Amino acid sequence: CGVLGLWAETPLDVAGMLHLGLLALQHRGQEAAGIAVSDGKTFLVEKDLGLVNQVFTEERLARLRLPEARLGIAHTRYSTTGSNLRMNAQPLTARTVHGVLAIAHNGNFVNAKPLRDRLLLEGATFQSTSDTEVMLLLLARLGHLPLEEAAAEAMKALEGGYSILLMDRRTLLALRDPHGVRPLVIGQAPWGYAFASEPPALEILGARYLRDVRPGEVVWVEAGELKSLQVLPPSPTPCAFEWIYFARPDSLLDGIEAYQARVRMGEELFREAPAEADIVVPVPDSGIGAAVGYARASGLPLEYGLYKNPYAGRTFIQPTQELRDLKTRLKLSPTSAVRGKRVVLIDDSIVRGTTSRRIVGMLKEAGAKEVHFRVSSPPIRFPCYYGIDTAARKELIAAEKSLEEIRAYIGADSLAFLSEEGVRRAIGGPVCLACFNGRYPAGVPQEGEKLILE
Ligand code: 5GP
Ligand code: SF4
Ligand code: MG
Repeated sequence: CGVLGLWAETPLDVAGMLHLGLLALQHRGQEAAGIAVSDGKTFLVEKDLGLVNQVFTEERLARLRLPEARLGIAHTRYSTTGSNLRMNAQPLTARTVHGVLAIAHNGNFVNAKPLRDRLLLEGATFQSTSDTEVMLLLLARLGHLPLEEAAAEAMKALEGGYSILLMDRRTLLALRDPHGVRPLVIGQAPWGYAFASEPPALEILGARYLRDVRPGEVVWVEAGELKSLQVLPPSPTPCAFEWIYFARPDSLLDGIEAYQARVRMGEELFREAPAEADIVVPVPDSGIGAAVGYARASGLPLEYGLYKNPYAGRTFIQPTQELRDLKTRLKLSPTSAVRGKRVVLIDDSIVRGTTSRRIVGMLKEAGAKEVHFRVSSPPIRFPCYYGIDTAARKELIAAEKSLEEIRAYIGADSLAFLSEEGVRRAIGGPVCLACFNGRYPAGVPQEGEKLILE
């Protein structure tokens, strides 16, 4: 998911700005979008299933345009815990002792189920199946504390990976789990402060990147000042997949540029798995950075061998296999660059293997002599419990199949994945690699939790 928020000293077109900023985070989720705004008295929320521009029509934005608006948060949803239902669109809101609260969440709480059961026993009622609502209900019970202290207490009870924006009528808070699994950055603007999943969204708001929210930290804006509380000791293991694939290539996360990390992954990949070939071809767009690195390290020319139809969207977010298959055909097609060539094909990851198989087939049909598939991350063998939906374990091709079996399935002449060490070196900091190695830094859910919640 993508989260975005702003706090302004003087009235601003908060809804209009959040709408534009949210478009810069559309890649982080395409299932639902929402915006909450307040002027200190009125509190408005609009949200629905769909892309940002499908949800926010002119009329809908007009409904959010409070003339004296000072703060707001926004969300773009990628469904992981809690299915793709309208009631799970965010920001979620609740009327509590703190007044109206709105929350926008990126990540997953791994202990949502036991917390939810406890709250239900105590008489709480839930309006959604999303794990995010657990946090709202925890906050509602901590009404005797100022909001930032209530948020700090809730953080102590919650486990997993989460980056959260929270607002009442006057205050905006940003919090990040002690492992810093999901990104969250702070921006400063002439009018106040902004928070976003990734820096490119800050720029759209006219804010300058200040720093990342630290793992385990709560940051809030109070009377125009940025305040901070280090709630839990930081133990950073940010998600490696953000740099491998999920984040925008123009993002700077925890001091590491996504594009440069991807180029380094490609360079490492060449060192680990060189191929006898004529050209390097990226699978657009997610394989481009690594292909640049591979081409640089190998000295082979980088060619525009696959055209990506920019109007087809991201395929993996389609819910059924049939829709995904159709969309891949719509999305990618080979150019004449591959004809008669031995191709090194570079992609960021293999999840189910279905897209990769189709791409290799397309290249061969277009006359590629050989296809050497190189993947800039290790085989994905385990599910992610921290907010990236890398499919159920049984769907992960690398969970069951050996390297040779995967190669045969996708029809490549050779296949190699980047090692965990290669990823670590390319990123250059401590990272979560649990979907590759099964070592979960921020805990795992109880058996069957996801099923029960959905
Ligand atoms: P596959 O060959 O596994 O079907 O597709 C691999 C390509 O699709 C990669 O470019 C990867 O970026 C993307 N992809 C496919 N499915 C998923 C998924 O469930 N989650 C993520 N994160 N990426 C996916
Ligand atoms: Fe990222 Fe994988 Fe860890 Fe999930 S399990 S947070 S996708 S590295
Ligand atoms: Mg891709």
